[in-house]
Amino acid sequence: MTTNRKVVLAARPEGLPTLDCFSTDEEQLGEPAEGQALVEVQHISIDAWISTTLGTRDGHHGSIPLGSTIPALGVGRVISSAAPELAAGDEVFGPMGSQSHLLAPAAMFQKLDVSQIPARSHLGVLGLTTGMTAYVGMITVGGLRETDTVVVSAAAGATGSVACEIARIAGAQVIGIAGGPDKVRYLEDELGIAAGIDYKNDDIGARLDELAPDGVNLFFDNVGGTILDTVLSRIAPQARVVICGAISQYGHMDDISGPKLYLRLAERNATMRGFTVDYWSEAHEPAREDLTRWLGEGKFHIREHVVEGIERFPEALLMLFSGHIGKLMVAP
Ligand code: NAP
Repeated sequence: MTTNRKVVLAARPEGLPTLDCFSTDEEQLGEPAEGQALVEVQHISIDAWISTTLGTRDGHHGSIPLGSTIPALGVGRVISSAAPELAAGDEVFGPMGSQSHLLAPAAMFQKLDVSQIPARSHLGVLGLTTGMTAYVGMITVGGLRETDTVVVSAAAGATGSVACEIARIAGAQVIGIAGGPDKVRYLEDELGIAAGIDYKNDDIGARLDELAPDGVNLFFDNVGGTILDTVLSRIAPQARVVICGAISQYGHMDDISGPKLYLRLAERNATMRGFTVDYWSEAHEPAREDLTRWLGEGKFHIREHVVEGIERFPEALLMLFSGHIGKLMVAP
């Protein structure tokens, strides 16, 4: 028998989740039945979408029942397998959930080649909800050009960091918006973008006027709310505004503050387009190829923040709203 420790939904959040919405349970797992594999989870991806599944609202990612394991993507190692496609020792990616182990159909897992790239990079730079999202938003949907002045919000988070790096690699002028001086230093000194704006202490509009006097060509927005309006009022003619997410609104999804300055789109012949990374499946292979090549060439500098212990999963999830730097993961 293998002991699985898992984090479950104990109470629905009112607004943003709090620590008392979660509890940690234990269960015993047996040996895999035919077609199943037993997997030890090694890294869990902490993603903003997880928080949208905890309420009653049936959003894009659905609403999970009370008492169920919090959903999450992750990577792990196969302990034992009763399926021909997986063997003990294989490293796999899949919908692991917030737990230390799982017994599930082998078809749920994707076997990883870890000879060149560590498994956890499949959550970060190569991760569907991080690097692939940044690539699809910047390149496929946003049509990134070398001559662009690009703005990224939540720039020091996971998706934002890779979005900044992709735009920098393309040769664009990149401005990142994030909360606090440490994040501005990270953006400028570690990610090497042109400038960071500290939305908690700076006047974002005045800083954008200085840094982008001809306007913003491409805005990759992760935050929504007032930051979206501030940038909308400074878009260049034919700008592209890409709605990746709106984390400032996730605590009150039934009462979202929409953009007030959307008429700038008409005045400047601009577009605003949202996307979900899973919809753009035909872009995934080219994205994976480019991201893998740039990773091999040492072009990414995104930090990884690994929180140790499955019981700290709720604390890690809450960090998405209080601020952290780079790609956040839990090692159970
Ligand atoms: P993340 O960026 O690693 O973490 C979220 C960041 O958002 C935090 O570090 C925090 O940084 C910032 N933030 C939180 N509350 C804020 C607020 N009220 N105002 C301004 N900034 C705030 O998380 P992630 O998982 O990579 O997700 C980033 C965004 O991408 C989310 O909006 C998510 O929904 C979206 N996303 C979309 C897709 C898609 O398919 N479209 C896929 C994956 C993710 P500060 O300290 O700087 O505030």
